[in-house]
Amino acid sequence: MNSNLFNQLFSIQTCFLMLLCSAFAGCVGVSPGQESAVVTRAQMQMGTVVKITAVARSESMAQAAATAGFAEIHRLEELLSTWIPTSELSRVNTSAGVTPVSVSPETMTVVQGAIQVAEMTDGGFNITIGPVVDAWNVIENQRIPTELELKALRPLLDLKAVHIDVREQTIFLEKTGMRIDVGGIGKGYAADQAVIAMKKAGALAGVVALSGDIKTFGQLPGGRKFPVGIQHPRKEGEVLAFIDLEDEAISTAGDYERFFERDGVRYHHILDPKTLHPARSCQAVTVIAREGIWADGLDTGIFVMGVESGMRLVEALPGVEAIIVDHEGLVHVSSGLRDRIRKP
Ligand code: ADP
Ligand code: MG
Repeated sequence: MNSNLFNQLFSIQTCFLMLLCSAFAGCVGVSPGQESAVVTRAQMQMGTVVKITAVARSESMAQAAATAGFAEIHRLEELLSTWIPTSELSRVNTSAGVTPVSVSPETMTVVQGAIQVAEMTDGGFNITIGPVVDAWNVIENQRIPTELELKALRPLLDLKAVHIDVREQTIFLEKTGMRIDVGGIGKGYAADQAVIAMKKAGALAGVVALSGDIKTFGQLPGGRKFPVGIQHPRKEGEVLAFIDLEDEAISTAGDYERFFERDGVRYHHILDPKTLHPARSCQAVTVIAREGIWADGLDTGIFVMGVESGMRLVEALPGVEAIIVDHEGLVHVSSGLRDRIRKP
């Protein structure tokens, strides 16, 4: 592969965590190497910019693989989005307190995964937070719910009231008004599934990036890993660190993308199930894992847990690494990552 192609890819990849600019939306870049073609395309899905890079033997195969990746994400959005009233998850939510709802294996996997992450993160991650997410509605409301409003929602945050029947393939939310929200884990899962679809369509390697939820597989032509830049939580457009990935997922939860400020206080979209207010212990948490579902679920859960117990959890989980920027802006790097990250 020529070095121009690598430089071009490098700059694209480093954008992945840097709030993928909408300027990329719709653009198609094709760079045939000696034996492989590389295609990069972007489009809006799951409420964010999704960017897919596919490496394949020919340009048409790379295009087909990228198309397959986008199609898979679209399919999952139709199942999991709470913005789509007919999605499976919306039907689970509107049937709360009434009846169990039959769901696909995919919805089952995400909800079961979310419950596992809740256990791992000591309840920091909790998908029954839906009604509280709606009460804050950080981007549209820009208002702080009263303590009375929040207190009324507390009984609805109850993972024990989520009944999963694996044999019947149903999910039942026991209490009226309960709502599950997979916004903290669904994009990572979608990245995993899109990669599977791309491989089936003939991709040799590639990257699927749903904003800061990224999954890579294989290597770039020339045997290089996929370089990714991690956004600095307080310096817009500045990279905190670079890391090369191969067959790994990376995911960042931060307080800097969706927030508003009132009287000098930042109110963002990651909520602490204990206080029902935005979690205060971190500015950003980046998790690297084999699968996107774990990287995405854990980044949100660890953001709530905070640096001490969060890092203890990361060190105990095989194949999981993290960079945590605490509330003071201090950067903490897990032991398996110290030799892998590069400063900009
Ligand atoms: P994004 O990549 O969209 O920023 P994150 O992985 O940071 O997503 O998760 C944030 C989203 O997760 C919120 O928008 C909300 O839907 C949901 N959420 C917020 N707090 C929690 C929590 N404590 N547990 C589980 N999900 C949460
Ligand atoms: Mg997450």
